[in-house]
Amino acid sequence: MLEVQKQVSLQALNSFGFSSIADSYTEITEPSQLPLLIDYCQAHKLPWLLLGGGSNLVLSAHVPGVVALIKLQGVDITSLEPPYVRVRVAAGEPWHETVSWLLSQGYYGLENLALIPGAVGAAPVQNIGAYGVELKDRVTGVDVYDTLQGQFTRLSSAECQFNYRDSLFKSVEPGRYIITAVEFELFTNPDHLVLNYQALQKTCEVLAGSQVITPRHVFDAVCQLRRNKLPDPAMLGNAGSFFKNPWVSQAKYQILRQNFTDLVAYPDAGGYKLAAGWLIEACGWKGKHYEKVGVYAKQSLVLVNYGGGDREQIESLATQISDSVHAVFGIWLEPEPRYYP
Ligand code: FAD
Ligand code: NAP
Repeated sequence: MLEVQKQVSLQALNSFGFSSIADSYTEITEPSQLPLLIDYCQAHKLPWLLLGGGSNLVLSAHVPGVVALIKLQGVDITSLEPPYVRVRVAAGEPWHETVSWLLSQGYYGLENLALIPGAVGAAPVQNIGAYGVELKDRVTGVDVYDTLQGQFTRLSSAECQFNYRDSLFKSVEPGRYIITAVEFELFTNPDHLVLNYQALQKTCEVLAGSQVITPRHVFDAVCQLRRNKLPDPAMLGNAGSFFKNPWVSQAKYQILRQNFTDLVAYPDAGGYKLAAGWLIEACGWKGKHYEKVGVYAKQSLVLVNYGGGDREQIESLATQISDSVHAVFGIWLEPEPRYYP
């Protein structure tokens, strides 16, 4: 059964805290409700918007169609053959709590992704990543409801076309698949640490002292670093990094490097990944306010809502930032969150 409510506020359901009203709203607690949802939308010629934690989208004041909050619950160990364990997690489970629980069970490999807001089901959408680990590194399959074929199926990791902050679900066929669960392959031994981010390595060394660094140290270090640098959406509305880090060719990098000797860049896929936060800061945006939104003072890649801001203000600020980065560096920044509608 599908319960559809009318004119529902989404303000508490998006991490920017924007005031937004959904024409229709429903909560999905059973996979069997998904075909009903799609039938309902198609019969009434309505668009649908899937919602997890609302931490990677920008909502307009009015959202037409049906907003469906995915609340599917459950965690299953699908196989345990040390040194590997496979775990299937339902889409509505909260991401950070899942990472924390898996760590407490001795299942390792997701600790670099601690404290990312949102739900498990949204994590494959932009192939979440942090501190040198991406979701794709640990995923074996994604269970979906295919709204085109009207059937439940499993997509392999390769079929998900994971890329840097991107996937099949985000840019190739957005809206076609509703993710119902994600299966991870994790480690049962604690020696697969990823410590190539300098700040993470240093913080782990401090936390571990004379002990060997463990996944627990990595988890704690990531939480500490993030709490120090990122605004908590409960206190200050934001959607994390607002732009993706741009990739440039070797040739473009060499030209930029001649003019900007302190440019922050990392070798990547034959070219360079530039730190978008550095580009924005270099254009003088750090800490700037624009109407009721602004650029976070501790990390220029994060745009914030100081209270009473809205989609139009964020979009205008993002455009101004993007234009100025293009004027100085000749690079267009691509927004990471999606605008709805
Ligand atoms: P939502 O915002 O609810 O949805 C995001 C997109 O996924 C929407 O297009 C939505 O329609 C779609 N979607 C949601 N659920 C489903 C589903 N079940 N099936 C199909 N589509 C679905 N991201 C990173 O990659 N790395 C970080 O380190 C990181 N740090 C962050 C820090 C902060 C403080 C904040 C606010 C955000 C951060 N993010 C980060 C962005 C965001 O948290 C992640 O992208 C997260 O996975 C979004 O989850 P969500 O449940 O909030 O998704
Ligand atoms: P940071 O450590 O100050 O690094 C700045 C940028 O440089 C990051 O964007 C990161 O790219 C890149 N970088 C740093 N060390 C690197 C290395 N050894 N190899 C390759 N790239 C390197 O970044 P931060 O702002 O404090 O964030 C820390 C991590 O959390 C980053 O991975 C970041 O992506 C993630 N994060 C993501 C969001 C989001 O909403 N997407 C929000 C907050 C934090 P990458 O971004 O590619 O890692």
